[in-house]
Amino acid sequence: VSQLHRIERFAAMTTTGDRADLADVPEDAPVWAHATSTRDNCLGQECPDYRDCFVMRARRNALAADLVVVNHHLFFADVVLRDEGIAELLPACNTLVFDEAHQLPETARMFFGESVSTTQLTELARDARLELRAAGGASPELDRVATRLDKAARDLRLALGEPGARLAWTQALRLPDFPGALEKLQTCLKELERPLAEQAERSEGLASCARRAGGAVAVLARMGESEGQAEVRWVEVYGHAAQLHVTPLSSAELFRRQMMDHPRAWIFTSATLAVGEDFKHFTRELGVPEAETRRWASPFDFAHQALLYVPKGLPLDPNDPAFTQAVIEAALPVLEASGGRAFLLFTTLRALRRAHELLRSRIGFPLLVQGTGSRSELLSRFRTLGNAVLLGSQSFWEGVDVRGEALSVVVIDKLPFAPPDDPVLAARIESIRAQGGNPFTELQLPQAVLQLKQGAGRLIRDETDRGILMLCDPRLVARPYGRRILRSLPPMKLTRRLADVEGFFRDYQSGSQIRHQGALLRRPSGVR
Ligand code: SF4
Repeated sequence: VSQLHRIERFAAMTTTGDRADLADVPEDAPVWAHATSTRDNCLGQECPDYRDCFVMRARRNALAADLVVVNHHLFFADVVLRDEGIAELLPACNTLVFDEAHQLPETARMFFGESVSTTQLTELARDARLELRAAGGASPELDRVATRLDKAARDLRLALGEPGARLAWTQALRLPDFPGALEKLQTCLKELERPLAEQAERSEGLASCARRAGGAVAVLARMGESEGQAEVRWVEVYGHAAQLHVTPLSSAELFRRQMMDHPRAWIFTSATLAVGEDFKHFTRELGVPEAETRRWASPFDFAHQALLYVPKGLPLDPNDPAFTQAVIEAALPVLEASGGRAFLLFTTLRALRRAHELLRSRIGFPLLVQGTGSRSELLSRFRTLGNAVLLGSQSFWEGVDVRGEALSVVVIDKLPFAPPDDPVLAARIESIRAQGGNPFTELQLPQAVLQLKQGAGRLIRDETDRGILMLCDPRLVARPYGRRILRSLPPMKLTRRLADVEGFFRDYQSGSQIRHQGALLRRPSGVR
């Protein structure tokens, strides 16, 4: 309740309604669900607060602006709403620039697919109850129906077991409690859909609930249909929720159609669109094989600013149970030489946890571990401490910017090949194979190269940054495709000798002392 009061006070004072400005209430606090609207339950023009609504005000401002900056998700939300003829979130424009465009194909696949989550269904049960009461259409029986839907959605989540899993639909159906829970959920949803549809005319809120129930019934029905060649059905399991998806295997056709239907300048930029000089992977994924492509060299002098270290003696098979231990043993002398100031990035959470166990009693530097605070908190502590070692996985591979001496080493345990048993990747691999293609060279390798470039890109963020990129996967030098990967990385000198790493930091220290002396000598003349 106290958090709700804080939100109420904040809403009266803020000019933007941006949740990030209310640090007192954590981003993931459940109370936000009671104070925010979603695409599902926003009442739009029927809303009594429409004129003062922060979202609508931001939209009005966007419509009047010459330049609008949004994230990829908002762009696709606008595309979907326009296609459905429901609304326009963003103004028409004649030039679109997508930064970090390497993420577009995957985001597009998610938006062009269909999904329903157990959270959407529990919220539907809650909103239906409230709207029925408000419109005078409630009855004890309808209350019970909504309660049954709420329980059925929660039971479906429980039937899926541990969080963090991504299951193919056929895998989920083999779980002992899942088919029964799914059937129950469908029955409850239909029981609620009928009275909502009958009472939809009583209020805009009830009409919206009826639409949501109808949409969820349709997605669940699609999950039960036999799978087409062009899509995959799968389930994502979170801590307290699960999401059922029907995802297209390729967004190329759909994205291409968007571009054809909206002739304007479409510009895609990112540091990781090309594998070497080759943009084919990206242009194929986005359905624009004829796009004009161009690559500009990095402004950084990688040959002098960085050194690539591939240590010797690690197991050739990165699935070897001793692999993470070997990574840590190889990384320890590097951390000693650098005085901490390192990111250790892992391809799996299991490896991250193992590395934490192995490292915590063996280094004297502050150790920060993903999951022990929010990403921005950990990064801020990392920058302030100046000699910390941060262990991270997925969420630290991209979009993290630590300039200067606080980050001088990036260690990457393995080549980041996506797990082939991931349901979406497995279906895409199968589809390429069925068309006579080679999924490894067409999909898995380019994806891993681009991901590796993102991870490696954390190291040099400025003309004055210097550092070591340590890649521990021996396949880089032992496998033929390793050479292709190495050629795609920025042009750093490659070494396999620890002595070169130690020498790099010795030079670095004397170089930085000279720089500091220079600064001291220059300062008095500047004062004069
Ligand atoms: S229009 Fe109303 S329901 Fe929709 S976001 Fe604004 S305040 Fe919320």
